[in-house]
Amino acid sequence: MPHAARSVRTAVRLALVTSLFALTGAGYLAAQLPAATPTLIVFITVDQMRADYFERFSSQLTGGLGRLYRGGAVFTNGFQDHAITETAPGHSVTMSGRFPGHTGIVTNLTGVGDANAPLVGGGGVGASPYRFRGTTLIDWLRAKDPRSRALSISRKDRGAILPLGRAKQSVFWYASDGRFTTSTYYADSLPTWLQQFNARKIPATYAGKLWTLLLPERSYPEPDSVPMENFGSNFVFPYHYPDNAVDAARLFSEYPAMDSLTGQLALDGLGAMGLGRGPQTDILAVSFSTTDAVGHRYGPDSRELHDQVVRLDKYMGIFIDSLYKIRDSTRIVFALTADHGVAPYPELRAAREHTTAARTDVFPTVTAVNQRIHARGGDSISVRFFEGIVTINRDAVTKAGLKPDSILDALAKDMRKLPGVGRVDWVKDLARADTSRDAVARRWVHMLPTDLPADLVMSLAPYAYYASVDMATHGTPNDYDAHVPVIFYGPPFVTGKYNQRALVADMAPTLATVVNVTPTEPLDGKARVEAIRKQSP
Ligand SMILES: [Zn+2]
Repeated sequence: MPHAARSVRTAVRLALVTSLFALTGAGYLAAQLPAATPTLIVFITVDQMRADYFERFSSQLTGGLGRLYRGGAVFTNGFQDHAITETAPGHSVTMSGRFPGHTGIVTNLTGVGDANAPLVGGGGVGASPYRFRGTTLIDWLRAKDPRSRALSISRKDRGAILPLGRAKQSVFWYASDGRFTTSTYYADSLPTWLQQFNARKIPATYAGKLWTLLLPERSYPEPDSVPMENFGSNFVFPYHYPDNAVDAARLFSEYPAMDSLTGQLALDGLGAMGLGRGPQTDILAVSFSTTDAVGHRYGPDSRELHDQVVRLDKYMGIFIDSLYKIRDSTRIVFALTADHGVAPYPELRAAREHTTAARTDVFPTVTAVNQRIHARGGDSISVRFFEGIVTINRDAVTKAGLKPDSILDALAKDMRKLPGVGRVDWVKDLARADTSRDAVARRWVHMLPTDLPADLVMSLAPYAYYASVDMATHGTPNDYDAHVPVIFYGPPFVTGKYNQRALVADMAPTLATVVNVTPTEPLDGKARVEAIRKQSP
């Protein structure tokens, strides 16, 4: 550009600026300037994090969790709005903006396991998103600008894979022998930066170390010695890592430091891949899943869970500070949620609340029905029960001269009599339920793909467990499993607490709005525009 032309343009711009200033003041001018589009979305999922943990530990959250909670747009009534509140379906919602009924990811067991996609470097079970249907935020970004890339890291395969849907991006998880790896769905070899990270063998260096309390002991109101925890043994601080390096690496993922390692790898990968430098928008997805491991072993009310959360807060603080040193913080947005919550051990809660603990066993009832069908010449497994879903082999039962619907009706009646069974619904009736008021019906409607065989659905009563479960767990449509944090943080968002109901499915469309991309298919969630800073008055 010739010098004269440049100075004329500068003069015009200056005049415009001056006149706007004179007319309306600096505030108006600032509001008129288009905000720079974020160049990095950091999407954090905490595996098994109930929304109430933020309030419960609030005064001790001085790191990353606290920073997002105090500085972010925090939806205090956030929900995973589907019935089977497990890791795989929950992660399939995070960046797709769609319920599991549409992502096709219904349970953990029918999540990412894929024998046709073995792990690079061997070991463990293969994994891929082949069951995932549709698109996610990274696909929408790449439809607009193919330079956009994503890195997804987790302790778990499903936690790393599902936030990105089917996108063949950089997706790595912990392979329980001390390495992070991927599967052949994504690549045939590991990138150099990951090989170098694995070669440091950080998990093995924990051999012989201890997991002790992060804060002074008086900071933990929870009792330490609770014999129900950790399958009835080894439930008191401090916890020892195995002395042997191989065992320390194998069991490393059961200790809070796993989340520190996850964060370190995410930063390493971001740096090596050059993500977040712009001009395009990239994604860094991190699923911190040690809270789930500790929550299952010791329960949500344990001292161990408390220590895990304050440690995660600390690790996330280091992660955010380190990220802000290498990338422009004004171009980064954070989102934080969870794949599901968790229920207390029934016996511990019952003792606290002076009520009775419920553990339900539906299998004798299902077996009795199958035996009756078998006695009439039908198949001995005509009726199946899987994670609350009941299916019947209609052809086989009809051939045996029986009426499938009558059998299911009788089974539903028998199941409703069992302690711990909250309700049994016909799937065909769910669509007629008042889904605005009936959260359980609505969550089942959101759960089931229309092509999934499902005749009845059974929901556990609040706080009931299945009899076979010997750890603390989650997975029901009840609020303690469904209520999760929904938080946005960064320049495009208005800091504050929002108490209207919000869904995890709202997060992808909200992020799409702030990075100016359009979802390429219909979504179940909607952009939470009330949390987005207005660009003009
Ligand atoms: Zn879990």
